[in-house]
Amino acid sequence: MEKGVEPHVLMFPFPALGHVNPMLKLAELLSLSGLRITFLNIHSIHQRLILHTNLQSRFSCFPKFRFQTITDGLPPSYTGGLTKLSHLVRSMETVTKPLLRQMLLSGELGPIPTCIILDGFFSFMVDSNAEPRIPVFCFRTVSACSFWAYSSIPELIQEGQLPVKGEEDMDRMIEGVAGMENILRCRDLPSFSRVGDQTEPILRYSVAQTIESSKAHALILNTFEDLEAPILSCIRRRCPNIYAIGPLHAHLKSRHPGEKSPPELESSNGYWEVDRSCLAWLDAQPSKSVVYVSFGSVTVMGDNQFREFWHGLVDSGRRFLWVVRPNMVGGKDGENGVPARLEEGTKERGCMVGWAPQEEVLAHEAIGGFLTHSGWNSTLEGIVAGVPMICWPQFADQLTNSRFVSEVWKIGLDMKDVCDRKTVAKMVNDVMENRRNELMGPVIETAKLAISSVEEGGSSYCDLERMIHDIQLLCR
Ligand code: UDP
Repeated sequence: MEKGVEPHVLMFPFPALGHVNPMLKLAELLSLSGLRITFLNIHSIHQRLILHTNLQSRFSCFPKFRFQTITDGLPPSYTGGLTKLSHLVRSMETVTKPLLRQMLLSGELGPIPTCIILDGFFSFMVDSNAEPRIPVFCFRTVSACSFWAYSSIPELIQEGQLPVKGEEDMDRMIEGVAGMENILRCRDLPSFSRVGDQTEPILRYSVAQTIESSKAHALILNTFEDLEAPILSCIRRRCPNIYAIGPLHAHLKSRHPGEKSPPELESSNGYWEVDRSCLAWLDAQPSKSVVYVSFGSVTVMGDNQFREFWHGLVDSGRRFLWVVRPNMVGGKDGENGVPARLEEGTKERGCMVGWAPQEEVLAHEAIGGFLTHSGWNSTLEGIVAGVPMICWPQFADQLTNSRFVSEVWKIGLDMKDVCDRKTVAKMVNDVMENRRNELMGPVIETAKLAISSVEEGGSSYCDLERMIHDIQLLCR
């Protein structure tokens, strides 16, 4: 690295919105500290963000920030998405990776970066031993607990604890994973460990990337010390230089003190058009009376599951706000899977929207509970908002997150692997009333810890400062 020049950070997220959004938040935080940033995105993702967000206006105040795009090597008509992970990975390895190197060498991406903040889910993208040699900081967008669970899988296989031997084996406790004793059952491991022919390559890929990320110059995690300290100290044994700087969305808010942005400047996250009408609906509901139901951007469910949730919510007698994405039921993109009869029957106590301003919804006075798929961003948003959760995890890290929500942090209930109306109604009533007192102590405490971690002097605040300082040192 050339010394004495201005630091320049290249950031490159994995091309899925759940990865791009936290990376954008990190980019904004680094820009606020005055660093020169080049944000590299796959063309199609960038186009989508431009269409649905205020991305350009949000970053236009940073003169040293710029967006660049690159191809993922797939034909424009390709719609495989993450389900065709292996195609995407192969194509990026053969097309995008050499192109990135060429762009770095030719100066197309600006001066040679001081470091690259690379999504650790495709750490193969940069060869830190090939020219130009640039230190790589791996950013993993998952929880520390699921990162650690992924890292432990090779040993669990070696010891014969994995693979899981069918449904009757699911409640067996996993042994010998430091920091997770008496916590994890087979059922709570990242879903890909429930090995089947289809999931095995994804498991192998995820584990390999997790292990590779630990070898980077540094590891950046969207979590905070008070939430995951025991696990972070286990990870530090493999990867000593960790920056735990989350929750990023709260961190960003705290660095914009007093900012109350007009709606058009609220950071939105680029999946679909946000329907803000639900905020007016919430304004008309009593305090803490509404269950917010959202399963993130990827989860799909069958008609039956959808019906069980609907009956459960209605039978609970509670009010609910439910995000039903266009492609959520039955998974057919562009088709609204909500049977008209159910939509009609919801009007009395419920409200359905295609896509909600989730952070604002969770912070709304009317919200009393959060039925979630336990995606990591949603989990952190629920934590910061101080809302108890009901977890219905579906895949990947969600299964581990939900276990930690219920058994370690004790801020919610885990409905994993169950989907029937009775359980839905019971858990909704537990969170809203029967077990509310028991849950609210830890919920309020965890929210406080999350917020103080990003305030001046807090652990995430200090880790971010340390990271910025370390980046600057690379140039001296
Ligand atoms: N989200 C949103 N509106 C919705 C539902 C979700 O803005 O109606 C956002 C949510 O705030 C979170 C992201 O979508 O930031 C989902 O990320 P997460 O990691 O929870 O799950 P994924 O979509 O990756 O499964």
